[in-house]
Amino acid sequence: MKNLWNDADAGKLGNDLLKLRVYTSRLLGQEEDLVLHGGGNTSVKTKEFNIFGEEEEIIYVKGSGWDLATIEAAGFAPVKLKALRQMAELNHLTDVEMVKYQRMAMTNPSAPNPSVEAILHAIIPYTFVDHTHADAVVTISNTPNGKERIQELYGDNMLIVSYVMPGFELAKEIYKLTRDLDWNKIEGMILLHHGVFTFHDDAKVSYENMIKTVTKAEEYLKREVANELKGTVKGKVAPLKLAQLRQSVSKLLGKPILIQHDNSEFSTAFSNLPNLATIVNRGPLTPDHIIRTKRTPVVLSGDHEEDMLAYTKAYKNYFDEFNTGDLVQLDPAPRWAVWPGHGALSFGTTVKNNNIIGDITRHTMKAISQAEQLGGWDTLSKWDLFEMEYWILEQEKLKKDKASKAMQGKIAMVTGAASGIGKACVERLVDMGAVVAALDINPSINKCFSKSEVLGVECDVTNTEQLKLSVDKSIAYFGGLDMLITNAGIFPKSLSIGEMDEDTWNKSMDINVTSHQQLIKLCLPYLTLGIDPAIVIIGSKNVPAPGPGAAAYSVAKAGLTQLGRIAALELGESGIRVNIIHPNAVYDTGIWTDEVLKARADHYGLTVEEYKTNNVLKVEVTSKDVAELAVAMLGPTFSKTTGAQVPIDGGNERII
Ligand code: ZN
Repeated sequence: MKNLWNDADAGKLGNDLLKLRVYTSRLLGQEEDLVLHGGGNTSVKTKEFNIFGEEEEIIYVKGSGWDLATIEAAGFAPVKLKALRQMAELNHLTDVEMVKYQRMAMTNPSAPNPSVEAILHAIIPYTFVDHTHADAVVTISNTPNGKERIQELYGDNMLIVSYVMPGFELAKEIYKLTRDLDWNKIEGMILLHHGVFTFHDDAKVSYENMIKTVTKAEEYLKREVANELKGTVKGKVAPLKLAQLRQSVSKLLGKPILIQHDNSEFSTAFSNLPNLATIVNRGPLTPDHIIRTKRTPVVLSGDHEEDMLAYTKAYKNYFDEFNTGDLVQLDPAPRWAVWPGHGALSFGTTVKNNNIIGDITRHTMKAISQAEQLGGWDTLSKWDLFEMEYWILEQEKLKKDKASKAMQGKIAMVTGAASGIGKACVERLVDMGAVVAALDINPSINKCFSKSEVLGVECDVTNTEQLKLSVDKSIAYFGGLDMLITNAGIFPKSLSIGEMDEDTWNKSMDINVTSHQQLIKLCLPYLTLGIDPAIVIIGSKNVPAPGPGAAAYSVAKAGLTQLGRIAALELGESGIRVNIIHPNAVYDTGIWTDEVLKARADHYGLTVEEYKTNNVLKVEVTSKDVAELAVAMLGPTFSKTTGAQVPIDGGNERII
């Protein structure tokens, strides 16, 4: 474990204890092998004057919901130290009461709730307290003779504490264990199956003791684990299998999920371990992971329906076995899977969730493969894990994740996505919580959207081979498809029928009709497995109200509209809705430069403003307006509408 302390950086902070606390907290937070996504916590004790001029001892403890990697001073909750120490002396305190009284003892009511381990921090008589869930230490402790190994490794330097549920019970246990302890004799504490505490009056020493302690465990593993698990091949999964799997898990969870496939050589090798089903059934790396990953992953075989049934049944049995009577069973959906020969898969409702699950499970798989060489992966009992999973304070943490958006977990595809209506559709879908595969022939599509919710795919939609690869790539990336906005199109130069050349005609047919038919065909197997699947076709006002000189365009768009109507008839029984939008006069797109607009307006003897709003309502129609309608048509408002054609043109007398 690398010591990241830098004298120059720390020197700039002077003697400001809270700033130093932020600094070393971030050093810890940067190391994934120390803490992951909100794991671990830190504190600093200081003295402050209250408004009455009285000096009080205050402990700043990491606030719930903050991540050590990015924490700021505002992420620490200031709590009166005396109150926390008095709480440690109580014989009994429920966790809900603990949270309430901790909050009451805070000197800043707008600060976040202090960590559930705040009382424990308070009873450690040093200025700085650092706590991590270091992989290496927990891995050694998660073996059949883990306690002996830890004792042998650290001798009397560390206080070794058997597992106790975090919160008041753990604080109480440490309080009892340390009442008669000479703190000078230890450098820290190892909590078996949980993590490490180090402490000191000097921020640097406390941090460095953590690094030293963890390095010792890492070196031990290096010595004792002879053959690190390494793979040579990357797992592969057919896109259709992923979409089927997504449908099954989404049904169990009761909401749509995204799949992230970890097919690294390591994960694939892990998935091929002969005793896979038994080892992954023993439990997670640390108990706090359970709210993200559940106790176990689903191990997939050839038949996913069977796998899910078995998983659900096992989860129900586990719940029934430990439920004390008044708990309600949580959803039985797995949060991740291991698939022999294919690697690991995360099932989160957002990209962020999947990243968290993916990080946690990668660390877990590594720990399991190491512990197996130390005599076997041996985690906490099912009861301890159940207690953690159903602990009200852990479930509260999940609720703090951002309130879910209407299209959270849903997967869309948009073509012609680099500009104009297509781009606006992608942005609107992301605003609504969906993830989007954004296809465009323009290579800039790869950089068009800087969000992890969007996959830019460069694709010529008239090239069927490229289109197939792009669809497969999108499915493999997000795990399925629910919504398609088929938008790519061109507006050919104006030619009368007599002047029409073959090239202009054919090109318009290829892009404006045929490519859409190909795309819908390629997406159908996935949409059939989608959640409330729907297609929106971007047509044109030229369909109901054609103009002279635009035969190549209008005929193609009329064909596209007819394709949509037939698709609505054919796909109804699969529950796939198909609706068509006819926009007109959308001028905020690439082709309508200021010069072109001015020229067209002059042609009709209008100002640009008059030209733009030349419709019944006298309003300008923007790409954003069209996108809002398109996305609404993919959503619940239009859940009982299919085969419809809706104009968005400010009202056109020829159509009305
Ligand atoms: Zn902890």
